[in-house]
Amino acid sequence: MSLQLLIVGGGIGGLAAALALGRGGHRVDVLEQAARFEEFGAGIQLGPNVVRRLRALGVEPALQDVAARPTRLSVRSVQGGDELARMVFDAARVRRYGAPYLCVHRADLHAVLLGALKAQGPSRLSLHTGARVSRIATRGGEAVCAAADDTRAWEADGLVGADGLWGATRARVIEHDAPPHRTGHTAWRALLAQAALPQALRSDRIQIWLGARVHVVAYPVRAGDFLNVVVLAEAAPPEGAGLDARGWDQEASLDTLRQATRQAGAGLRALLDAVPAWRAWTLHDRPPLQGPAQMAQARIALLGDAAHPMLPYLAQGAGMAIEDAATLAEVLAGVDAGQLPAAFAQYAAQRWARNARVQARARRNARIFHATGLLRWGRDWAMRLGGARVLDVPWLYAG
Ligand SMILES: Cc1cc2nc3c(=O)[nH]c(=O)nc-3n(C[C@H](O)[C@H](O)[C@H](O)COP(=O)(O)OP(=O)(O)OC[C@H]3O[C@@H](n4cnc5c(N)ncnc54)[C@H](O)[C@@H]3O)c2cc1C
Repeated sequence: MSLQLLIVGGGIGGLAAALALGRGGHRVDVLEQAARFEEFGAGIQLGPNVVRRLRALGVEPALQDVAARPTRLSVRSVQGGDELARMVFDAARVRRYGAPYLCVHRADLHAVLLGALKAQGPSRLSLHTGARVSRIATRGGEAVCAAADDTRAWEADGLVGADGLWGATRARVIEHDAPPHRTGHTAWRALLAQAALPQALRSDRIQIWLGARVHVVAYPVRAGDFLNVVVLAEAAPPEGAGLDARGWDQEASLDTLRQATRQAGAGLRALLDAVPAWRAWTLHDRPPLQGPAQMAQARIALLGDAAHPMLPYLAQGAGMAIEDAATLAEVLAGVDAGQLPAAFAQYAAQRWARNARVQARARRNARIFHATGLLRWGRDWAMRLGGARVLDVPWLYAG
């Protein structure tokens, strides 16, 4: 049984869905507003739960070529730099979760997915760029789903909204939906060539420094050749500087970054000072999903950030989009056009609670990572005592 499907959005979630659905024998049109299929930004971490799904999509060998395989996760304090806890990524851990933990530049992951998609051939896939979908409709007693931009229109049996935090599809699934809210948190990201760094700053591990209302993450990407550094702070440049952080006056943004990291001890300070240029992102959020109806409605399903954006404090936003894609392909196997609404409902029923749990955990991590006072004291004590047990998330990585 082969369906005709539209996917709005060609980010990591949209491409993973196209790949999974194409492998399932369905015919897919991917509609991407940008002029080219490409990803910007910096690194992303992929837990074993995500790497297993990517393996099932047949892209693990290509991913291993471009990813870095960190040796361990090491958590330190921003001020003193002393290690609070560590989790070693050893063979036993790979056996337990069935896959390694990887770090990859998002452009590399996007390119791996795109390459695998193109290899499927044109009979199952059409990629449309410059296609900013602004109108979505269901017609003919819901038998046809249509999307249109200013000049073109497409029809299919069903539509998957993978159009991210600000996408157009969500409004077709959730009535009276509020817009994403500003969290007041900002992420500054940078990429450093390891070869250009002093030996002491080069790293083959994921490092996290926890401070008051701020934390810093660094990990290798691009087969270990680059170090991805991210500062995440409960701080934002002054109001009126614009909603999109990329449009900010860089000096205003950098002043805020300097303020947020002024507590950094010598080791971390040296790393931050080695960064030649930062890019800033304002972090927006939505409340965790409350039920399956927020992920699918009749012939329209939502996937990834379009359905469940999350703070990057559990490093699983793209991961959940990839998990969504895998489940979507599973529930659509052997389904005909008449059964599609029921299959989308089944997809939503299978995915919403896990996505909501990950969203909630990411929010909780924000409070723990940025703790001050007694909560901070309790966190540090628990980390020193519990070590890897506190850092591991078995329900997530084994799920
Ligand atoms: C600082 C930071 C660090 C992060 N770290 C991690 C990490 O370590 N691990 C992890 O798993 N996740 C991480 N994430 C989260 C991850 O980046 C997102 O969850 C993920 O990119 C979502 O993918 P998506 O495909 O759902 O949406 P997007 O990446 O937003 O893609 C949506 C696509 O839809 C297109 N689009 C939008 N509107 C339209 C329209 N109307 N018509 C056509 N096309 C449209 C867009 O151009 C875009 O290509 C991080 C996020 C941030 C901000």
